[in-house]
Amino acid sequence: MSQIADFCQSLKQDFSPRCQNPRQPVRCWSEQDILNHKVVDAYVIILRTRGCSWALSSGCTMCGYFNDSNWAPVTQQDFQAQFEHALAGYKAEKIIKVFTSGSFLDPTEIPVHLQQEFLGQLAQRAEKVSVESRPEYVTEKALSMIQHTVQSTLFEVGIGLETSNDLIRDKAINKGFSFKAYVKAAQLLKKHQMNLKTYVLMKPPFLTEHEALDDCLQTTKDIAPYTDLISLNPTNVQRHTVVEYLWKRDQYRPAWLWSVVEYLKQSQTLTDAEVKCDVVGGGSRRGAHNCGTCDAKILQAIQQFSLTQHKKSLKGLTCGCQETWRDQLDLEHLSIGSCVDFQRWRP
Ligand code: SF4
Ligand SMILES: [Zn+2]
Repeated sequence: MSQIADFCQSLKQDFSPRCQNPRQPVRCWSEQDILNHKVVDAYVIILRTRGCSWALSSGCTMCGYFNDSNWAPVTQQDFQAQFEHALAGYKAEKIIKVFTSGSFLDPTEIPVHLQQEFLGQLAQRAEKVSVESRPEYVTEKALSMIQHTVQSTLFEVGIGLETSNDLIRDKAINKGFSFKAYVKAAQLLKKHQMNLKTYVLMKPPFLTEHEALDDCLQTTKDIAPYTDLISLNPTNVQRHTVVEYLWKRDQYRPAWLWSVVEYLKQSQTLTDAEVKCDVVGGGSRRGAHNCGTCDAKILQAIQQFSLTQHKKSLKGLTCGCQETWRDQLDLEHLSIGSCVDFQRWRP
């Protein structure tokens, strides 16, 4: 195991899983999304599984999804109860996203026959069904099974590539797969006429704000031939993670919302894919944020851009803190370690 993998693992040692109800999904909610260039409703189901296999062995430096996992086997009856519970809240949304706090296609999280049963039921109800998976579970066998199950319903797999840079993915994120593995999964999805959504991470630990922005832009160029949709995920500080360890010691600041805006403005010149961004924890100290005064306005513009893909949603945004952000981009490479988040610092 590498040192960073060891460190990720060691942070979970003091973690005691909360008592979870294996018969209830983690969460279900309705949100807006885009389908065929129109804004539609989407229903999101997060099933509770025993947890992401990668998180069980070490895990990614920014991911605290394991906080929601069961950390114990979930039986077939439990899964069926979760699924029924989830379906009770479904209100004919056109898109259904069925996620786990890991990989839906990992057979050790959800047995294949249950994947098939759930996808079959969802495909009968929605126009598009979406799951998330690490690339190692996107296999010819799995996709043939899904194709047979969902038939003509549009099917999408979201892969958390985070960055096209193998060094950053390996050393700063501890993701445990290569860009080559992502490309292989992308080609298999294309072969089966399925869509690919790629998650790009803004600001992994150990990168400056400028490096993080450049990395997202370079990644967008590199994945342009493969992906149908890009979801930019600015890191938020989750519990029991390397990111939280650094953040508590003033060695990590989540991305500025200005960096997100800059990325979105430039992204359309780099790819034909739709680009969206859902800023989890946006505006808070643990999420991507600005000075506190302009955050709500910027977050609204980002949301508007994500739904319309119109660059005009991002026009005319200004605040005094933009200068501080620019100064950070210019000067941070001269400092050692992360710039302290003075504007939102709480001793
Ligand atoms: S980011 Fe994905 S692959 Fe990494 S630990 Fe979290 S759920 Fe697992
Ligand atoms: Zn501001």
